[in-house]
Amino acid sequence: MRTFPIFINVGRKPPLVTGGGELAAIKTRLLLKRAEVVDVAAEELGSELAALERGGRVALVPARPGIDQIRGRPLVVAATGDDDEDARVAAIARALGVPVNVPDRPGLCTFVMPAIVDRGGVTVAIGTEGASPVLAQRLRAWLERELHPRLDALARLAGEFREAVAEKLPAGRARRKFWEGVFDGAASEAALAGEDEEARRLIGEAVEAAAKAGTERGRVLLVGAGPGDPELLTLKAVRALKAADAILYDRLAGTGALEHARREVELIPVGKSKGDHSVPQDKIQELMIELARRGQTVVRLKGGDPLVFGRAGEEIAALRKAGIEVEIIPGITAGLAAAASLQVPLTHRDISHSVTFVSGHEAGGDEPSFDHLDLAALSKGESTLLVYMGVSTAGLIAHRLLDAGWKASCPVIAVENASRADERRVATTVAELANAPERLRLNSPAILIFGEVAGLPAAGRVEDALASPELSRAYA
Ligand code: SAH
Repeated sequence: MRTFPIFINVGRKPPLVTGGGELAAIKTRLLLKRAEVVDVAAEELGSELAALERGGRVALVPARPGIDQIRGRPLVVAATGDDDEDARVAAIARALGVPVNVPDRPGLCTFVMPAIVDRGGVTVAIGTEGASPVLAQRLRAWLERELHPRLDALARLAGEFREAVAEKLPAGRARRKFWEGVFDGAASEAALAGEDEEARRLIGEAVEAAAKAGTERGRVLLVGAGPGDPELLTLKAVRALKAADAILYDRLAGTGALEHARREVELIPVGKSKGDHSVPQDKIQELMIELARRGQTVVRLKGGDPLVFGRAGEEIAALRKAGIEVEIIPGITAGLAAAASLQVPLTHRDISHSVTFVSGHEAGGDEPSFDHLDLAALSKGESTLLVYMGVSTAGLIAHRLLDAGWKASCPVIAVENASRADERRVATTVAELANAPERLRLNSPAILIFGEVAGLPAAGRVEDALASPELSRAYA
């Protein structure tokens, strides 16, 4: 059964339970956590239900309810224990579109009852789509321990102030910020400690202060999403994603990271990949400025680190010029993730003393000349080259290196989709790459690592068919 969790209003008309026995009593007790009264259809009531009836929480209605007794109910639980009778009630309910549950007979149900953690008005409902009630109970026990017993007091207080806050603070960011402040601050501590009056005073003051502070200033955060593995997001990036009103994200920023965003967030794909600048850079900048001017917290989510080949320089300059506050949250850049998954050190006491981050493309998409690099010096200096955006120019790059005097046998490893489930690694040499780059069958995004360190034994599987025999042995 595939289920979607919702909360059903049981305040208009009582839910109906059929059956007077123990099972019916258990379900009734659960419903009474929220419903004022539950109608129970039975010949006679067992002791618990009878007691509830005396207390006015249960109303006895005739057994074997028909269409008219079932129509309009918020929900029905068929729990007589008589298979035929339960199936009959379930069929009527289903025909009328009334949600129905028959304990332990999933085939007859249109809804399931979750495991519930109840703190007055605050409810956590746990479901496993029937896969494991025991797991649900476990989670429930854990949540029972984790959630403060006075959480409902906090929720009630928040409820008391809801209207006042709605009147004084505009919907959206200002209001949300206000409540976040309440729940993270002294008012919440007071409420949880049972000092309701103090909590009320603090919330009242905070409403006034927030109303006075008036419109908030927006800002832009350039956030690194890392190379793709969602676990390589920083805690700070997660916090920024949670705080964002709008997120402008690149194709490479991966959807895993977006899971951390709030439900109401505005998600704007700006989808940059080579040759597909779906939103031009100046438009991206204009959009960020416009959103921030509306008071929003704008996250510009970029793959890897925002300051490595991310056009962050232009964005920072444009934002500063517009007088908008900018913050940068670094991320793990693809080259470092590639090295980590290979377990290849980028610097090495004996064979590499520096790392150079190079783009395989130059501004305007032209083929790279690498004129800005002293490739000969780099080769003598036992340096590692990390090439980004080099898939289509890999062969050309290898030629340039050979021309500059790099050793033909100098090892190269390409890592496609580093840190992702579809990561692929290919090892070769500069000479072989120069001769037949297409044999690597490389797809973007990929990082190329040039240098002696790439000849150290790598971890995991490297497709070594492309490497010379000596190299193949080194990778074995
Ligand atoms: N700011 C990014 C780089 C953006 S440029 C960073 O710090 O990682 C885009 C290039 O990054 C791609 O062409 C590719 O070379 C590299 N890249 C990004 N993600 C990658 C990944 N998961 N695996 C390999 N290369 C990646």
